Amino acid sequence: TWGLVREELIKRVGRNNYVTWIEPLRLSDLNGGVARFEVPTTFFGDWVSRNFADHIRAQLNTSGVSVDRVEFAVGQSARGQKGQGRAAAPAAPVAAAVSAAKPATARATAKPRAETEEMPGAPLDSRFTFDSFVVGKPNELAHAAARRVAEGGPVTFNPLFLYGGVGLGKTHLMHAIAHELQTRQPHLRVLYLSAEQFMYRFVQALRERQVMDFKEIFRSVDVLMVDDVQFIAGKDSTQEEFFHTFNALVDQNKQIVISADRAPGEIKDLEDRIKSRLQCGLVVDLHPTDYELRLGILQQKVELYRQQYSGLVIADGVLEFLAHRITTNVRVLEGALTRLFAFASLVGREISLELAQDCLADILRASDRKLTIEEIQRKVAEHYNIRLSDMIGPKRVRNIARPRQIAMYLAKQLTPRSLPEIGRRFGGRDHTTIMHGVRKIEELMATDSQMSDDLQMLRRQLQG
Ligand code: ADP
Ligand code: MG
Repeated sequence: TWGLVREELIKRVGRNNYVTWIEPLRLSDLNGGVARFEVPTTFFGDWVSRNFADHIRAQLNTSGVSVDRVEFAVGQSARGQKGQGRAAAPAAPVAAAVSAAKPATARATAKPRAETEEMPGAPLDSRFTFDSFVVGKPNELAHAAARRVAEGGPVTFNPLFLYGGVGLGKTHLMHAIAHELQTRQPHLRVLYLSAEQFMYRFVQALRERQVMDFKEIFRSVDVLMVDDVQFIAGKDSTQEEFFHTFNALVDQNKQIVISADRAPGEIKDLEDRIKSRLQCGLVVDLHPTDYELRLGILQQKVELYRQQYSGLVIADGVLEFLAHRITTNVRVLEGALTRLFAFASLVGREISLELAQDCLADILRASDRKLTIEEIQRKVAEHYNIRLSDMIGPKRVRNIARPRQIAMYLAKQLTPRSLPEIGRRFGGRDHTTIMHGVRKIEELMATDSQMSDDLQMLRRQLQG
């Protein structure tokens, strides 16, 4: 149940705070009206205790978990880790539960949210605008396409399908489109919601026998945006309804914008007719961020923070360090910066490299793991039950060559190695052989769902 209560807290504290401060909490004990949470560092516990303890307690009670007090202690898993001097300190509760007077900085991190949207849609985050979206090579196409839709001119491609990994800006772009359209053409009925909310509304309509109303609402909008559409995969009646809604809107020449975590063809358990519909318009992907984009995003954030935390000094090289080291996703990157500013202002120190390493030890450690090609080869060999030596050997039979190509593909995807470097580690193969292998797997993934499942699993295991 903590998982559910936690989700509810998004509404109370906002998404940024949620990701930075609430998500990392582990409920370790719930007894006698006291809820105990594990936190990664003393500072972290202190901060959460001052700023969010009341929210957490209130939400627990609202959700039917009766709690008088919440406590935070540095967790076993974090304690005593190298480079985490701060966490090695006391195991005792970090601070009393009920918050003291909030420091001025607390208000700054808890930004108000605009909750403006009409009935069945989800609220838009007022910070997710085109102005605040940093454009770089990895996202320039997606950004350009989103801009085009946001102009609100005649529909040129339908739907716009945006896809990419977690935290690369899909939701941000969709909200930006909605904001922009509402500014330019206030009369337009723009409906944004997640696929999950779509399903929820639909199921509710079924239950309350209001399916006709449901259909009417969804078919009378001018622009429909459905976020994370992969969610409806495998949910048959929701898919059905989505398909009809989709068609009805396309027939009326209304713009549709969809996002997902992967390309339409790669969404498992999604009906073929929906896949092909989704591919009819413009399909663009957001690529993983590169160093320049990450640095750009950090610089933009720092400009914002400078206003909130006036007087804070940030040393040269800190942003570069973060952009270099935190490569997983933008949300984590932003969370790191938020924590850093909060911490620096709390202790009244300059944001130095040292302070960053200290305060972000857990995040840095998590994004630190560098995968080697050998690890990939070993894992893939094990999965397909072949010898590790066959990865680099000359055999060409399919049941060995295919896993070898899979390992090549994963090496290209998950490590920064170049094709020639990868070739060398596959028994001195030429870079064109590697490229061929990578292409082959990409092709197979688009058509063979078993293959794309396998790859997803391997990827998860390797990165986990
Ligand atoms: P997704 O929906 O793809 O998982 P989000 O749109 O929620 O990702 O983005 C995660 C966070 O990263 C958000 O706070 C968003 O503002 C930020 N973000 C992602 N890409 C950019 C970008 N190019 N410029 C500025 N902020 C970005
Ligand atoms: Mg999203």
